[in-house]
Amino acid sequence: MTAPILRSVADLRAATAPWRREGQRIGIVPTMGALHDGHLSLVAAAKEKCERVIVTIFVNPRQFSTPEDLANYPRTEHADAAKLARFNVDAIYVPDGDQMYPAGFSTNVTVSDLTDVMDGIHRPGHFAGVATVVAKLFAQSSATDAFFGEKDFQQLQVVRRMARDLDIPITVHGCPTIREIDGLAMSSRNLLLSDRARTVAPALIDQMEAMADAVAAGRDPAAAQSDSIAALLRAGFTGVDYFEIRANDDLSLLTSPTRPARLFAAAWLAGVRLIDNIPVQT
Ligand code: AMP
Repeated sequence: MTAPILRSVADLRAATAPWRREGQRIGIVPTMGALHDGHLSLVAAAKEKCERVIVTIFVNPRQFSTPEDLANYPRTEHADAAKLARFNVDAIYVPDGDQMYPAGFSTNVTVSDLTDVMDGIHRPGHFAGVATVVAKLFAQSSATDAFFGEKDFQQLQVVRRMARDLDIPITVHGCPTIREIDGLAMSSRNLLLSDRARTVAPALIDQMEAMADAVAAGRDPAAAQSDSIAALLRAGFTGVDYFEIRANDDLSLLTSPTRPARLFAAAWLAGVRLIDNIPVQT
């Protein structure tokens, strides 16, 4: 069944009001569209836990660092709605720009500490854009549960902290990263890779696994890191923003993984920035 597409806050509130009155669990899956199986795994998780599920599609201008990146971002609303049909979601929320940022909009939600590292540094303003739009989506939907991917682990932790700090009564669920057969983490940005670049892209996860295995076997992380970065550049990547092991909870840099930790990476391939993370043995 095709779900209704709602484009205004008023329509979203009208849809959710009866669900709230009946005390139903409402799950929200925020996305920027160009849906792939990674997104759909979040929808499946939401369907399992909640009586009602809302998928949101909004290419949020505030979380892009450059106008070109925003302009190039894939937009496939029709195909997205078709992919959602088999999940029987209750609503697809595709807010018009002025519903999210009406004239005079002047509030910014910033989360400190967790955003002092990695994408917080390499994409200035990105997490404020994310935290602001997600806070709005939480408030507009009055969802009880939200579903985010571990693929964007830093974002997941930022959203958790934001909801907790602002006393938003919502449970934020983190869902595992879904990958292509060759290991590349699914991402809407993969659509921007040329055929040639697409064949090179799995080197990222290969090198992440190589470093994680080497460190688990006792190798010095700094040496393993420089080998992996060199291998990526040899394979055709043009730059590496970070490739490092950090603690899951506060994202602090670890010289050896002594508590639950992940290896985080961001690297450039043919003008496309790919990010990924995997757990490391502690
Ligand atoms: P995006 O549309 O890229 O903003 O992503 C929307 C949501 O889908 C975020 O919570 C992402 O972390 C999640 N997501 C994106 N790619 C994947 C993936 N490969 N596996 C699981 N979740 C993902």
